[in-house]
Amino acid sequence: MAEMMYLGDDNWKCSICGQVVNTEYDLGAIYHDCKKEDVVESLASLVHDEWIEWSKDIASKEKLSEERLNRWKHYWIPYDELPEAAKASDRVWAVRAIEIAEKHGFTRRD
Ligand SMILES: [Zn+2]
Repeated sequence: MAEMMYLGDDNWKCSICGQVVNTEYDLGAIYHDCKKEDVVESLASLVHDEWIEWSKDIASKEKLSEERLNRWKHYWIPYDELPEAAKASDRVWAVRAIEIAEKHGFTRRD
């Protein structure tokens, strides 16, 4: 479920798609129905899977500090089980991928 983060001056940002809504004249805008939640979450999960593959490969080939290896292992779990802050960093890439697709004319059917 998309949460709205307060930015100040009646501006709220969707935690999923990054869209900013203003509630100064439209209090209902806070109930942003995130149309991109499913695609953002799917792509963010892919971003996380790619990171797991990359980090496990690096960990198998290079001597990492114990601290870094333990930190990475902590995140070698399914996307759905990640803490919200980690999901947020994967969503940044998902939103960028969607922006590229939209720039090239891809749109949703619904
Ligand atoms: Zn949204």
